[in-house]
Amino acid sequence: MKELLETLVRESRALAPGGACASYIPALAAVDPGLVGLALADGEGHLFEAGDSRVRFSIQSVSKAFALAYVLEERGEDAVFSRVGKEPTGDPFNSIIRLETSRLGKPYNPMINAGAIVVASLLPEAVAGSGGASEPSARAAGLRSFVGRACGRGSGDAVTSDETVYASERGTANRNRSIAWFLKELGLLDGDVEESLEAYFLQCSMLLDAADLARAGSLLAYDGVAPWSGERLLAVRTARIVKSLMATCGLYDGSGEFGVDAGLPAKSGVGGGILAAAKRRCGIGSFGPALDPRGNSVAGTHMLKRLSAELDLFAL
Ligand code: GLU
Repeated sequence: MKELLETLVRESRALAPGGACASYIPALAAVDPGLVGLALADGEGHLFEAGDSRVRFSIQSVSKAFALAYVLEERGEDAVFSRVGKEPTGDPFNSIIRLETSRLGKPYNPMINAGAIVVASLLPEAVAGSGGASEPSARAAGLRSFVGRACGRGSGDAVTSDETVYASERGTANRNRSIAWFLKELGLLDGDVEESLEAYFLQCSMLLDAADLARAGSLLAYDGVAPWSGERLLAVRTARIVKSLMATCGLYDGSGEFGVDAGLPAKSGVGGGILAAAKRRCGIGSFGPALDPRGNSVAGTHMLKRLSAELDLFAL
């Protein structure tokens, strides 16, 4: 297995210059576009890795899958889907247009920014250890500790957010601010708009590596039971909802094409990460910050398509 992963990383290093790092969040443009990492976590809790699989990067939109799982567990389906739909859009991740034109009256799904900002507004505050923290920090802290558990991190290895990326996004987020204020106008955001945005920026700047994403993918692949411990961390229904929305909406407006070529539920982020889940087989995490025009990792989509073909992981 390790050999196969090494081969795919080698192939992808040759492709990476074909894309460029995201630059609309200035700190992301500073990441080395030549990095490539791949990890696979199987059903017995084994981890296979190649390349830059332990380089941490800001997970950006991959956080939308984690936040959705956490809010579904903590607040239930009605709280989420009364305010966010379950349908793909075919629009870019940060599109605002349908908020006004659609008859749905709410964002189409939790994987686009509008839906994810609504989900971030529903994040519960961390119960302990947040004494004195502001509301967004306490909410992000709760999500970070959930993400740590979902990635099989030990209790001494806490998930952190990248302060530079956070500040960079926060300082340039005119479009996300516009979306959030429009959501407020539609009655879909309770409480303070800026606080929901802060929680969203903090979740996007969480730092993980490809190995973390592979383990979290294996948690979803086994419908909420962690293969590394046998412990149930998510309800079956939660895992299935997250995977279904990943399959239809996880790779922005490239979700259909990726489904045809890789056949895997997956979620990408503009930091270059992709998390994928192959039902009852494995979880896969990839990293490659050079992106295609739709915002998906050039190396990551290549490796996932190849891996799916090599290991017959097609689930769709
Ligand atoms: N923080 C990014 C934004 O909201 C996430 C985008 C992404 O990874 O798709 O613009």
